[in-house]
Amino acid sequence: TKFKDGLSKTRDSFVGQMNELVKDYRKVDEEFFEELEDILISADVGVNTVMQLIDELKDEARRRNISQAEDIQPVISEKLAEMLQKEEDESELNMQKNAMTVILFVGVNGVGKTTTIGKMAHKFREEGKKVVLAAGDTFRAGAIEQLEVWGERAGVDVVKQQAGSDPAAVMYDAVQSAKSKGADVLLCDTAGRLQNKVNLMNELEKVKRVISREIPDAPHEVLLVLDATTGQNAMSQAKTFSKSTDVSGIVLTKLDGTAKGGIVLAIRNELDIPVKFVGLGEGMDDLQQFQADQYVHGLFA
Ligand code: GDP
Repeated sequence: TKFKDGLSKTRDSFVGQMNELVKDYRKVDEEFFEELEDILISADVGVNTVMQLIDELKDEARRRNISQAEDIQPVISEKLAEMLQKEEDESELNMQKNAMTVILFVGVNGVGKTTTIGKMAHKFREEGKKVVLAAGDTFRAGAIEQLEVWGERAGVDVVKQQAGSDPAAVMYDAVQSAKSKGADVLLCDTAGRLQNKVNLMNELEKVKRVISREIPDAPHEVLLVLDATTGQNAMSQAKTFSKSTDVSGIVLTKLDGTAKGGIVLAIRNELDIPVKFVGLGEGMDDLQQFQADQYVHGLFA
């Protein structure tokens, strides 16, 4: 139901338009598909993905002899679910069984990185895990303090240095400190300034090197945080980051604040990076592991 609530804006817009469409077009014809195309594009599904979806729907309609508009609706949700989840367990985090799991969060300022780290810290705490946060965004004013607020809220330690210090040094400290505390999970914040992309990417690589020098196969996850309300901007950020660093999963925040929740499809389908979590609000409990079937239910419910 969290999912359903969080998707209400997208659902109202999407389902509203779908219902209109089915009402207006009794028959599934070329015009019907054109209108469907427009609806999907306006939900930010992304042109390439929409084209692919429409082609598959046409094939399926032909194959199953579907001519009534209302009969195609279940096929649409089926196809959406298929596109969203390519592997059964792809939204699972790569958690280490008998060692510390290190998760790096990347993304540009304002997308909800700090909030997501706080929510995830809370989630792991509830699972009984020992969590340490690394304040690796030493650049943005207030980032360290904000992470500390979340640390306090979630009841976990934060490793930090002064603003402006070398993020790689913070990360080195954080790994040592987390190890000595016997932490199960280390969640690492990073800077997200966009003004200097090359520097930012170099810094990320350096941070990753420092971590993997201390723990050979870490970081175990590099999660790219994207703001769903920014639509195609989120897509271009995803392209930029995944080109220069290995992104293992996406956290899509602020799905509750947009009618364009179709962006999930575009990301999954066009970038081949699984969406692992979604943000459905500003509170501590408003982070959900992504599940394709729940998402599709949330859209049509
Ligand atoms: P950062 O600069 O990437 O660290 O972004 P912040 O974590 O500071 O978040 C920016 C703003 O987005 C804050 O006001 C958050 O409360 C808000 N925010 C983050 N995630 C969500 C979400 O899932 N839903 C909503 N509605 N707001 C969110």
